[in-house]
Amino acid sequence: MASDQYAFEDPSKKYADINPSAQYQAGPGLDSALNDTADHGEKSYRGLGRLAGRKALVTGGDSGIGAAVAIAYAREGADVAVSYLPEEEKDAQKVVALIEAAGQKAVALPGDLTDAAFCRELIAIAVKELGGLDILVNNAGKQQTVADLADLTDEQFDETFKTNVYAMFWLTKAALPHLGAGSTIINTTSIQAYSPSESLVDYASTKATINAFTKALAQQLAPKGIRVNAVAPGPIWTPLQTAGGQPTEALPEFGEATPLGRPGQPAELAPAYVFLASGESSYVVGETLNVNGGMPTP
Ligand code: NAD
Ligand code: MG
Repeated sequence: MASDQYAFEDPSKKYADINPSAQYQAGPGLDSALNDTADHGEKSYRGLGRLAGRKALVTGGDSGIGAAVAIAYAREGADVAVSYLPEEEKDAQKVVALIEAAGQKAVALPGDLTDAAFCRELIAIAVKELGGLDILVNNAGKQQTVADLADLTDEQFDETFKTNVYAMFWLTKAALPHLGAGSTIINTTSIQAYSPSESLVDYASTKATINAFTKALAQQLAPKGIRVNAVAPGPIWTPLQTAGGQPTEALPEFGEATPLGRPGQPAELAPAYVFLASGESSYVVGETLNVNGGMPTP
């Protein structure tokens, strides 16, 4: 039998053959251009109907963690809308094909989340095309390493906050009137929220903000039956890391400092997002699920 996410195996040996080599990609970067292929569960994720009939929007669903989540949600029986930047159409179409191959409806929504009007439009179209919405995954993110604060431009600082924080706010606010009791919101935060790298001042700050936003809003929405939680990945092999997220020369060692001694794969994140979206986590509210290879967290 082919190995799936339930396979009993040594997690320190899993994916041991992946060795992220040095590589730089311009723009948001593409999964399809990664030197060493990432695993989004294309061949391994096995659904059990845990999200049957649900309707999900996953931002940044074209690649990396978002792609793995979109594939898993579809295989668990959800219809899935994915948002992404127009230049990521190639990655997005691959994910759309996998959602459809799972027998679910796929909606492809290119556009720039740093634009508030687009965020509101995105929710409106997703709701119309899916016939409702009950899972919102705020996952799109921008990460650009800058060694010296003197070189961190106002434009980058603004774009990082717009992409990682403002878009989450705009999308969540626009989605709320459509979310009924039982719905869930999942925000992608990061180990950087508590263990910031010296060259990720703006990015790490947005992730700490996402944690506070998640915990505050979770309390506000719990009485309405809407649960808000977060997933905090550690070093995961995705295009963001090769598109300026890390210094290029650091990529060969990427993830080796974790207790498991290796970077994570997007496929290893998807089950956390499935759990938080499904009724199995009905008493889990305002939680941050760390999926980081063993790095200590507060
Ligand atoms: P990724 O590049 O595959 O995904 C990020 C996505 O964000 C892109 O695909 C893009 O579609 C979207 N995006 C960026 N700017 C946008 C904009 N202006 N408008 C619309 N979409 C935009 O990389 P990933 O690592 O899978 O990132 C997903 C999330 O995981 C991000 O929030 C990232 O901060 C977080 N994260 C990643 C890691 C890691 O090591 N890869 C670790 C912790 C947290
Ligand atoms: Mg992408």
